[in-house]
Amino acid sequence: MPTSTPSPKASRAPATKASAKKSGATKKAGPGKKAGLGSDQLAQPVTVLKGVGAALAEKLAKLRIHTVEDLLFHLPLRYQDRTRVTPMGAVRRGDEVVVAGQVALADVTKGRRKALIVRLSDGTGSITLRFFHFNMAQKNQFQKGTLVRCYGEARPGASGLELYHPEYRLVAQDHPMEMEDHLTPVYPLTEGLTQNRLRQLIHLALEELKKAEVIDWLPQSLFPNLPSLKESLLLLHEPPPDAPVYDLKDYKHPSQHRLILEELIAQQLSLLKLRQQHKHHQAPVFHSTGMLSQQMLAQLPFPLTGAQSRVIHEIERDIQQGSPMLRLVQGDVGAGKTLVAAMAALQAIEAGYQVAVMAPTEILAEQHFNNFTQWFTPLGLEVAWMAGKLKGKARQTQLERIADGAPMVVGTHALFQETVEFKQLGLIVVDEQHRFGVHQRLSLREKGQQGDLYPHQLIMTATPIPRTLAMSAYADLDTSVIDELPPGRTPIETVALADTRRDEIIQRIAAACHQGKQAYWVCTLIEDSEALQCQAAETTFDDLKERLQGLNIGLVHGRMKPQEKAEIMARFKANELQLLVATTVIEVGVDVPNATLMVIENPERLGLSQLHQLRGRVGRGDQQSYCVLLYHTPLSKNGKARVAVMRETQDGFKIAEKDLELRGPGEVLGTRQTGLAQMKIADLVRDQYLLNDVNKAANQLIEHYPENLTPLVERWLGGAEQYAQV
Ligand code: ADP
Ligand code: MG
Repeated sequence: MPTSTPSPKASRAPATKASAKKSGATKKAGPGKKAGLGSDQLAQPVTVLKGVGAALAEKLAKLRIHTVEDLLFHLPLRYQDRTRVTPMGAVRRGDEVVVAGQVALADVTKGRRKALIVRLSDGTGSITLRFFHFNMAQKNQFQKGTLVRCYGEARPGASGLELYHPEYRLVAQDHPMEMEDHLTPVYPLTEGLTQNRLRQLIHLALEELKKAEVIDWLPQSLFPNLPSLKESLLLLHEPPPDAPVYDLKDYKHPSQHRLILEELIAQQLSLLKLRQQHKHHQAPVFHSTGMLSQQMLAQLPFPLTGAQSRVIHEIERDIQQGSPMLRLVQGDVGAGKTLVAAMAALQAIEAGYQVAVMAPTEILAEQHFNNFTQWFTPLGLEVAWMAGKLKGKARQTQLERIADGAPMVVGTHALFQETVEFKQLGLIVVDEQHRFGVHQRLSLREKGQQGDLYPHQLIMTATPIPRTLAMSAYADLDTSVIDELPPGRTPIETVALADTRRDEIIQRIAAACHQGKQAYWVCTLIEDSEALQCQAAETTFDDLKERLQGLNIGLVHGRMKPQEKAEIMARFKANELQLLVATTVIEVGVDVPNATLMVIENPERLGLSQLHQLRGRVGRGDQQSYCVLLYHTPLSKNGKARVAVMRETQDGFKIAEKDLELRGPGEVLGTRQTGLAQMKIADLVRDQYLLNDVNKAANQLIEHYPENLTPLVERWLGGAEQYAQV
């Protein structure tokens, strides 16, 4: 989970269901169709290569390699330099190098761990080889004066730089040393396939590539300084000895740029294409006089913020056009997104359409239900309810109300998963679902389709998507930002304390509650198990009850019945309970302004965005609020970094940027849904400095090279599958 961020390249190996379907990839470039590299030869299955039978093809398929071309796009993770011998005096720690020198000494150390130590020198310096597994015959090979060549990673050790278990060879004095004639690529592997075998195969594929003619769908004129795709692929698999190793390592080599740009541009074009197709559909036009929204505003005890008004206008413009809106509204916790959704809903309702509001959890859905009921009942509008747990007669009643055209329907996923029939759905509002991927957005829309008309769609998220990512991962959406909080909010003071100071905190809660305040105590996930999390919350609940006898304490967790949960929440809201022990189920939406203290146990287990959401439960009134991050020592480096970010800022956008940096786009966006983690070479975080170029180039392609769009997208995204789901 959040503590480590594996390289996106290394983590892309497991094939998802969607990609497994690609096993028919050989079909994708039929004759006359210019998919992929545009060469029929390269589009052949790997079995055309010498020595590749069914068994090997099956192993390759695990790496999503089906064709010769797929081999070419299976890019090295890194390189080894076996083209030259590095003088020992020039080796730096961390370098992976070939060194050669004479044995100065070979000895077995007896210390904590028995090891064979071989000291080599080459006149410029010396280096020590260290073997923990060895036999005596091996030791005896290393006679003083013997010339040894080895390859390994130089690490600082007891005697200066050391190579642990290097690959090595004894070299006859009079024999010339053979070296590799290009840098050695290191590829992602799968079980039963060795580096050497894969290198041979890719070498064969490169021979085919040399003969083939590759069309550059990204015209040379757009990036005059970059090599062609063909040159780039050839170089990246077998870089010449003088290739700049450090550039390659940082993905800053022009050949890498070429591929990264192509891939990002293709990604972006595919989303733009989705958006274009989306805009071609028809949607209801909401002409309304604004009467209902006027009424609603008049009954509110406060005016809209400037940002709320602006975003409402942006939405209004969309829904008065005949094509379906697909708009993402981003706004920090407490920015007042619900009200914006309500104003949009009233437009649809006044025009005679139904609105569905979907929330990710039942608690949040209930809260919306209560809000909308409170706002809409005085306007004479009915609010219906739908959730998976709603059963029997009650369910039947709600289904009928929805089918009869109840103007407002609030619920969970059940709204779209179950057999719910709307009479005339005009607008779908999805709350807090930044983890929705492209395809889910599409499928929602399909479900609401009625005849030729598609409903408008509004997505609201409190976890802002960093601008750079929004540009690429959400290019199919329009976005609005509510960048202003309602006035009168006091910033939350966040402190981080080691859990050795738990007692102190418990006393502080007692003091705050005796002054009439309320507090949350949040227990975090121990493992990926809801059961364990609930258990932890129960234990904490018992412990706190024992130690805070004068207080009324409640407990909510995911395994309680919705009604129980709702009851506890209601009692907390009414200040009958002063302390609420909870799991992260309270993450979203809960609104109790009198709660001014939140303790989060083991915050290091959570991502930044989730912490930010949780913290947003306090600081909702005009009193000073506090958030205590009660961390478990020792904190990892990443854990420390996250706690520091939480203390420093309360700006959701900054937090999202940091989250992205610390956890990578896969975690932040939800890997599988977005498909972004499956990119072949690009990495949205590492390569974000290229995104402006990507945008520009995508637009130029659209304008000047429309015929290149489809083949470019197909080359990188495998075409057919991408659009099949539209
Ligand atoms: P979020 O954006 O986190 O969903 P909510 O919609 O839950 O925020 O709003 C948070 C709180 O702010 C609610 O109590 C809501 O009534 C209040 N609120 C919303 N808009 C305004 C406003 N313009 N002025 C004052 N309070 C507002
Ligand atoms: Mg909300």
